[in-house]
Amino acid sequence: MNGKVLERKASPRADILSNYAGATVMAVGAHPDDLELGCGGTLARLSRAGARVVMVVVSIPSRLRSRRAEAMEAAAILGCEIRFLTPNRCSRVEDLKTHQLVAMIDGLVKELRPAAMFSHCLPNLHLDHKLVYDACMASQRLSYFDIFCYSPTSCHAVNIPFFPHAYIDITETIDAKMKAIRVHSSQFDSRGLNTERYKEADAVVGQIVGVGYAEGMEIVRMKVN
Ligand SMILES: [Zn+2]
Repeated sequence: MNGKVLERKASPRADILSNYAGATVMAVGAHPDDLELGCGGTLARLSRAGARVVMVVVSIPSRLRSRRAEAMEAAAILGCEIRFLTPNRCSRVEDLKTHQLVAMIDGLVKELRPAAMFSHCLPNLHLDHKLVYDACMASQRLSYFDIFCYSPTSCHAVNIPFFPHAYIDITETIDAKMKAIRVHSSQFDSRGLNTERYKEADAVVGQIVGVGYAEGMEIVRMKVN
């Protein structure tokens, strides 16, 4: 040692979302509106960062045509593509046999070859959400892709324990997220449910990491290069 103190320059943190530029990101929700609520701000950021983002809606439980149209409009607002796994009939996820649901998710993974997947998390009140979580987790055996789980989603105000590992700054995209949520008027306006609480919740999450608005994610697996 020559007594010199090595100077270390603080390097700017890498923008992890930009790692997916030019790649495909697959986001899976049980119903129309789940993805907008759980990770809409993150998906919009990914799209703006140059990722191809494919939103996958597994089932449409009611009002087939209007809810399908709402989901398409919301996806366009977020800059995402959209796929419906059961586009031509009203159904619940649990109407599918488990092996059918797994085969559907597997088929999309094989087709899209995603660099990352966003899934429901396990702690959800809606059983359909848990079924989709299980199918998404099963698909990780097919190939390597990063997997994140977004926070529990519900039209009603419920308190479900959720402990994120990562916080995505969505200050730039909160307006797009809220616009995409409000498009689902069949779920909110027409039932007298206020959507502003989702913005307030993202503001609270943002305070944890010192930004305006954020979405919390569980990290199931993430490759660090
Ligand atoms: Zn749902």
